[in-house]
Amino acid sequence: MEKDHSKLGFHTRLSHTGRNDKTVHGFVNPPLLRGSTVLYPTVAERKRLGGMRGQRVLTYGLGGSATHWALEDVIAEVEGGTRCAIVCSGLAAVTTPLLAFLKSGDHMLMPDSVYGPARNFAEGMLKRFGVETTFYDPVIDGAGITALMRPNTTVVYTESPGSHTFEVQDIPAIAQAAHAGGAPGGIKVMMDNTWGIHHFQPFKHGVDVSIQAATKYPAGHSDILIGSVTVNSEEDWQTLHAGSRALGQYASPDDCWLTLRGLRTMGVRLAHQEQAGLEVARWLAARPEVARVLHPALPGAPGHDLWKRDFTGACSLFGVEFKPEYSVESSHAFAEALALFGIGASWGGFESLALPTTGFVNRTAAGSHFDGPLVRLHIGLEDVPDLIADLEQGLAVLRSFGR
Ligand SMILES: *Cc1c(COP(=O)(O)O)cnc(C)c1O
Repeated sequence: MEKDHSKLGFHTRLSHTGRNDKTVHGFVNPPLLRGSTVLYPTVAERKRLGGMRGQRVLTYGLGGSATHWALEDVIAEVEGGTRCAIVCSGLAAVTTPLLAFLKSGDHMLMPDSVYGPARNFAEGMLKRFGVETTFYDPVIDGAGITALMRPNTTVVYTESPGSHTFEVQDIPAIAQAAHAGGAPGGIKVMMDNTWGIHHFQPFKHGVDVSIQAATKYPAGHSDILIGSVTVNSEEDWQTLHAGSRALGQYASPDDCWLTLRGLRTMGVRLAHQEQAGLEVARWLAARPEVARVLHPALPGAPGHDLWKRDFTGACSLFGVEFKPEYSVESSHAFAEALALFGIGASWGGFESLALPTTGFVNRTAAGSHFDGPLVRLHIGLEDVPDLIADLEQGLAVLRSFGR
């Protein structure tokens, strides 16, 4: 019997979406299909299938195969959208929809706390191609967005919480202002939803295009780069798919297959890491060395009220701001003293990370709200008491470094 997924719980849907049992003769998982050339029995058949481009028929490797389509379906399900395009990295999931929906002469709004390479793309290639970007304070309200919009504004970009600094955005207010300001269908609200994953349902809050660095929790093991772009209307799918295809966007079927495998256990990993992250965050918030813990799910943290209104949970990535008497160098010594936390970019894997981030905070619109050094923590699947003991000895190094 065909399953009706719409009424099932999140974990059930993670287990059962993207499995077409009939095509794999009873195996649980979809096949790993590799290929570039597709052979046709006749020229006429080639022409017939060529006319079905964009539908799920094998025409050429770039169009994807059952492996890609299964992953597309699971991510669309996670995000609550209708269609998803898989691309080669999280960064490609940022740049592909921007190139698909923007054109020369357009104007875009982007939050000051955006993922750094997204800012670089706007200030570099998009500017060179004639797209102008205005950066805005991420904690803006609807009226603020309205005031910044121009007749040629076609994309309002969002990311919540912000990269490194975790500002929570009022996405419903921003989306409403954006959609009210332009011609119908004229303005697209895009969101980098990598932190929210399924805890933020973008399409219920007015977002048109949702971006995920599936490299993070979906892949979940720090060994794959992959991205997804999800939309919720046929019209947006046509634009996104045409753009993605024109750019030659593609992800290896091996990586798609492994990401699918990661997604099957993402629910339990995320639930565990959410609780572990909060435990560590609460412990840090009570420490004398710490000025603020930038964890939206922590009561009293910046953005907590908006998080509580719009999110159903949290992942295990958050920031720590040390008191201003500690130097940036002492925060480096802290990170280097940790034995169980690696110093590294990316996140969402099974292992914990600590990354000093003071140098990554670039503010051209909002000004910096941080007086002390910043460190970003990712909490993995280790035992929390071990992580806390490690942080405790790291803090001793921070203190002994001098002020
Ligand atoms: C990591 C990240 C990306 C980019 O993902 P890659 O797969 O590393 O290219 C995009 N957005 C956010 C918010 C990220 O944290």
